[in-house]
Amino acid sequence: MYKRMPLLILITLSLACAHTPRHTEPGTDIAQALPAPTPPIVVLTFDDSVQSHRDFVAPLLKEYGFGATFFVTQLWMNDTDNFMTWQDIADIHSMGFEIGNHSWTHRGFNTQAAADAMEEELAQVNVQLANVGVPKPVSFAWCGNAFGPACRNKLEELGYKFARRGMQPELPYGEIHIGPQYDPAKHDALLIPTTADAYPKWTLDHFKKIIDQTQPGTFTILQFHGVPDLAHPWVHTSPQRFKEFMAYLKQSGAAVIALRDLTTYTQAPLNPDDPMRTTTYPQPKE
Ligand SMILES: [Zn+2]
Repeated sequence: MYKRMPLLILITLSLACAHTPRHTEPGTDIAQALPAPTPPIVVLTFDDSVQSHRDFVAPLLKEYGFGATFFVTQLWMNDTDNFMTWQDIADIHSMGFEIGNHSWTHRGFNTQAAADAMEEELAQVNVQLANVGVPKPVSFAWCGNAFGPACRNKLEELGYKFARRGMQPELPYGEIHIGPQYDPAKHDALLIPTTADAYPKWTLDHFKKIIDQTQPGTFTILQFHGVPDLAHPWVHTSPQRFKEFMAYLKQSGAAVIALRDLTTYTQAPLNPDDPMRTTTYPQPKE
């Protein structure tokens, strides 16, 4: 009995070893086989210098630690009940957000005449920004979603790095759709498409769909106006709904950034193969 004990222990041990995985850390093989899901990268943009950007949007985004770009235009600023002052814009800059140029008069930039006026249009905004300590923008948003080759080339000449257009011409204006995602391998950095343009009828379910369909290597570009937007109700977003959207972004683990932050993730190339570089939208009427 005494002599047979070691043999029994040996047999027991070898049987035990046969059932023990070679890796000692549980789950290692599974972790290697399935890559971790990539969190979506979402660019938040807010157009037209609406007062609620200063009063509601920027403080909420700051709480979440999100980045965003605010595109400012002078066009409606005389209506001080509904639109920001230059000092309000400076406050948003001081909170760490990007201020982008949306032109002085918010005209459509889709003709040679508009290209000729563009330098002055953008410089007037830059002068006001400089007066309140905001640096010269590197990003631009196409006004009324119009764009054209002469103006696109002018933007490049003026040193702009990024410009966001709308969901057009791929999708009709004013309807709820999910548009193209920004793919730096396809799109020119001065003609970055909007993935989704916020309308009053957006639901949380629709917002989740937009975020959940973000593909690795591409970016979801969101275009908002006022939250609320009392002067332009057709692009209004309710503050309560917006809070739900931002809570979902946080929950999804998305990286939420300003347009200028794209350089952290991509070279954001000027892409000669983008057919939009030779497209005029909308076609100017003769
Ligand atoms: Zn606008």
